[in-house]
Amino acid sequence: MNQNRGINQDVTQEMNRSLLLKSLRREGVCSRAHLAALTGLKQATVTNIMKDFLNWGIVKEIGFLNGSKGRRSIGLSINPDGYRVMGVRLARKHYSVGLFDLTGKQIVKERVDFELEKQPGAEEILNQIVGRMRLMIQQYGKDSVLAAGLAVPGPFIAKKSRIALITGADIWKDIELKAFFNRELDIPVFLEHNANAGAYAHMWELKEAYHDDILVYIAAGQGIGAGIVMNGKIYEGALGTSGEIGHMTIDRNGKPCACGNRGCLERYASSLELVKTVYGERAGMDGCKFEDLEQRIKSGDTIGTEHYRRACESLGVGIINIINVINPDRIIIGDDMARPNPELMEQTVRETVQKGILPDVWEELTLSISEYQGDPILTGAAIVAIDRVFDCPGQFIKN
Ligand SMILES: [Zn+2]
Repeated sequence: MNQNRGINQDVTQEMNRSLLLKSLRREGVCSRAHLAALTGLKQATVTNIMKDFLNWGIVKEIGFLNGSKGRRSIGLSINPDGYRVMGVRLARKHYSVGLFDLTGKQIVKERVDFELEKQPGAEEILNQIVGRMRLMIQQYGKDSVLAAGLAVPGPFIAKKSRIALITGADIWKDIELKAFFNRELDIPVFLEHNANAGAYAHMWELKEAYHDDILVYIAAGQGIGAGIVMNGKIYEGALGTSGEIGHMTIDRNGKPCACGNRGCLERYASSLELVKTVYGERAGMDGCKFEDLEQRIKSGDTIGTEHYRRACESLGVGIINIINVINPDRIIIGDDMARPNPELMEQTVRETVQKGILPDVWEELTLSISEYQGDPILTGAAIVAIDRVFDCPGQFIKN
């Protein structure tokens, strides 16, 4: 009996710790009294837990805040100098590795692009990534790095920790990613679909502006995926493959796709496809890469811009379908395709979507192009790790 009560108390304490860390992160800076008011916890509980957090070095005091009635209280924040997490982004044509503090701020980042002709095999890429991670861990203190998040393209079967299909990058099929990292590293590694990671990063950035919104982040890059956040949590689906909008049919008599379907959104609105449409056989060669096309569109090239506009129209059709299925509050579009001409993308998508959905639904929808500084998918990978640490801090921080 007594033992059970002890276990329940531990669980409750860990839940309270998690609630406080997440609230504090969202507020940025606030007092113990404000935290108690926000979370509904007793002042004494907040004070006790904060004492532990200060000892652990996960929270720090940052001087006095001016409260109501002229009373002053001590401000608290997540300690940016304490612990670290790592974020890793695995993309079709590159990977990035970064080190972050627990507020989600990037400390260092390395990006490696693959040569088209000399793309290394999956095992070699994984070994390179692990090598870079080990170096960063060594450099920044072994004990202070708590966990890592890894954002991967999909369809990613979260419950099996493997990627089912990456168009144009078959090497990843059937590789047990989680098992690999668990074997190679001493810190826990959490995997997330890249669009979900991007959605997390945007949700964090919105801070107080995000309440229980249904937020959809669309990563329109070399592939297309959507990260769906509901009540502050990623909506995963049964196997973890929800949001796989790249393989949503927008034309059932359309172009065939590697997934076995026809007329998939990815075949009309991804950056890989746009490059193929504009450059044909030369796509991907020097001078015919997405970055070259991006420059052409930025300098007003008519043909490039027209193909880009059509791709944005197709994306709009995909977005109509998402809206009809989940009726989100906010949609944010980001990744490669949002870069060449964000204004034109926003205008084209808005026009397409407005024509295709109910006026009442349109009026309540916030649709925008991401203005995120840095790579939200890489930062989102780190945030996935931070979120896991904040879920049960006592398990990560040994004291
Ligand atoms: Zn498909």
